Amino acid sequence: MKTELRTDITVGDICKGFHYNTLEGKGVRGWNGKLIIQPEYQRNYIYANGKDDVAVVDSLLKKYPIGLLYFLKVGDEYEVLDGQQRITSFGRFVSGQLDVLDANGMPHKFDPALHGWLLKRPLTIYICEGEGDDPEREIKEWFKTINIAGKQLTEQEFLNATYSGPFITAAKAVFSNSSNANMQKWKRFVAGDEKRQAVLATALDWVSKGHIEEYLKDHRYDTGITELTAYFDSVIAWIDGTFKEVKDEMCGLEWGRLYELYHTKGYDIDKVWERIEALFADADNGIVKNKRNIFEYVLGGETKHELLKVRLFDPKIAKRVYAMQTEDAKSKGVSNCPDCVLAHNANAKRIYAFNEMEADHVTAWTKGGDTSEANCQMLCRHHNRVKCNS
Ligand SMILES: [Zn+2]
Repeated sequence: MKTELRTDITVGDICKGFHYNTLEGKGVRGWNGKLIIQPEYQRNYIYANGKDDVAVVDSLLKKYPIGLLYFLKVGDEYEVLDGQQRITSFGRFVSGQLDVLDANGMPHKFDPALHGWLLKRPLTIYICEGEGDDPEREIKEWFKTINIAGKQLTEQEFLNATYSGPFITAAKAVFSNSSNANMQKWKRFVAGDEKRQAVLATALDWVSKGHIEEYLKDHRYDTGITELTAYFDSVIAWIDGTFKEVKDEMCGLEWGRLYELYHTKGYDIDKVWERIEALFADADNGIVKNKRNIFEYVLGGETKHELLKVRLFDPKIAKRVYAMQTEDAKSKGVSNCPDCVLAHNANAKRIYAFNEMEADHVTAWTKGGDTSEANCQMLCRHHNRVKCNS
């Protein structure tokens, strides 16, 4: 890669012909039209929150440096590789589209008489040009380096940059688009910010079974995204058709994996929802600890009990049961572990200390036994582990 450090380009130069798209919230062009501020593969402008954007302008007004900017030279044009957020912020200020606060906390527009000097401030810009036989790899490595500073790109933003092309452009128009009419519905099941590419990442994760990068490599130059949208829609439709209602805990589950495992099975959806409600009630009573796994537990026929992390007995209950059991055992001259007594082994008369024993459900929780004192017995650790596996 060829790089050239430029310190002669000023804020005013970059703001010449600066154009900001309010609707899409992004800076489009600057530097007399030859600078593409937000290339298609770049993340959206996320500084427009009245804080980060104002902070950039504030730094400039205080004559602090705003850091290195990186431009990529492509033919006669330049693309911003790093610095898009900062350029868009000061561009909006200079073009009268962003107010900053003065020393008295009053909002201030750009005033040529007051702020004219700002236009002459030089910026520090690295201009880079890809070369060699693998410019793509080169740019990828470079992105890694420059993203150490400033706001980190998300993994998917990084992949979008590396595999930019018609496929990513088409996929972003669907899955990164906040005004997509389906977005609110999708976000009941998909976690994260679509503007930071979280929904796109999920759609790709599902269709590629977790191999997003390979998938993007294979489809980079596709103009259609039919497989991606069709698979995503199938998963969403399956969730909708399997669960009668929506709970907050459904957001962000590994639906792609669950769909692959269970979508060919038939379910009585009334029964499914009845069980989910019952297990949620157990969770509200503190018995089931992992609420989010209830869906997978029910889909799997309620066999993977470890998913729910069922609550252990209250130590106070365990101590009371231990005391009673031990007193009783001592009077009979047998072990205080009932299973050791039954096993007639070397420990048949052993009295275990409290910390050598564990509380166990007499009637297993999975068979309807509750976590109460009446259903609690103390077993030696060995026997409790043996029982857990049966
Ligand atoms: Zn035992």
